[in-house]
Amino acid sequence: MNCTCSRSNIESYENFELKNFNTLKMSSVADVAYFVKNEAQLCSLFEKYEKLAILGAGSNVLLSSLGVREPVVITKKMSEISLRKNIVEVEAGASAQKLSVEAFKNSLCGFEFLIGLPATLGGAVAMNAGAHEQCISDFLLSARVYDTKEKKVLNFTKEDFNFSYRNSIVKQNPQRYVVLSAKFELEKTDKSLIQEKMEKNTAFRKKVQPSLALPNLGSVFKNPTLPNGEKLSAGMLVDKCGLKGYRSGGAGVWENHGNFVINYDNCSSNDYTNVVYKMYDSVREKFDIELECEIVRLGEFSESEEEKWKIMKKD
Ligand SMILES: Cc1cc2nc3c(=O)[nH]c(=O)nc-3n(C[C@H](O)[C@H](O)[C@H](O)COP(=O)(O)OP(=O)(O)OC[C@H]3O[C@@H](n4cnc5c(N)ncnc54)[C@H](O)[C@@H]3O)c2cc1C
Repeated sequence: MNCTCSRSNIESYENFELKNFNTLKMSSVADVAYFVKNEAQLCSLFEKYEKLAILGAGSNVLLSSLGVREPVVITKKMSEISLRKNIVEVEAGASAQKLSVEAFKNSLCGFEFLIGLPATLGGAVAMNAGAHEQCISDFLLSARVYDTKEKKVLNFTKEDFNFSYRNSIVKQNPQRYVVLSAKFELEKTDKSLIQEKMEKNTAFRKKVQPSLALPNLGSVFKNPTLPNGEKLSAGMLVDKCGLKGYRSGGAGVWENHGNFVINYDNCSSNDYTNVVYKMYDSVREKFDIELECEIVRLGEFSESEEEKWKIMKKD
């Protein structure tokens, strides 16, 4: 791994190991990785490259064990948070966890659901992250977004994002839009009420989700809604297929909840894909329900992995 801090002083590395930059702790080597510190640095990279792979905290992204050929841009160092009254402006790489704590410190309510979310703000907006009946789009006023097609920065309103359950225009067009920063409106409230909610949310997470000591990418599948409007738990469907504890290579379904896949022992993207496919296929066979995957992918995958993801792709 050689540091090549040449281009406009942007920190960059060749043959960069991404193991510590994804919450699955999976090994994947990027041909080149950039750590951008601000909007200008990020946008300038698009003058050099047609395509870039944007990586936030890597908490929802399966990297390829074969590596990533596109230059990877890691946003974590672009992390300013500024508050003015009840308006919060946040750069893309800011940690969701830190954002939640800063809002609490300033008696601002709305970001309690971000506590314990191992994400960056940009990733959370792209995925419309949510929990405890709140989601990031509930509080978003506007955002600065780089449009790689038009090669310019746009000001997006909330409506421009076309948000829906764990989805946005950014997720739908992965190579087109890059979230640079976003502005939110929160509400001044009694600090003790915010604290109470944050503690409740933390306790709930501890009960139903694996800690990152068991490396994972969060929920694998969205909870499906049947044509009659009934909502089901994807984890419950996987459990009913008897798959808790099912393993392929180093990856396996968590013993405590069927919607999490853990890297138990140096798993590869092929192991992870095999387990996810087994869950998908078993639920389809037993219940005639096609689960929709929440996880996104970066890199070039083997033919057999691609085949499985193609079958599982819904939108
Ligand atoms: C233990 C655990 C618990 C979780 N709990 C929840 C939960 O409760 N609710 C929930 O919704 N999710 C949850 N997740 C999933 C994940 O944290 C979210 O999807 C999160 O929003 C991803 O953010 P990230 O910064 O890690 O994005 P990454 O995983 O790095 O990237 C995800 C996608 O967003 C894109 N992206 C990242 N940053 C930008 C940007 N600035 N502009 C454009 N695109 C960008 C990437 O290219 C990629 O396509 C959980 C994950 C884990 C591991």
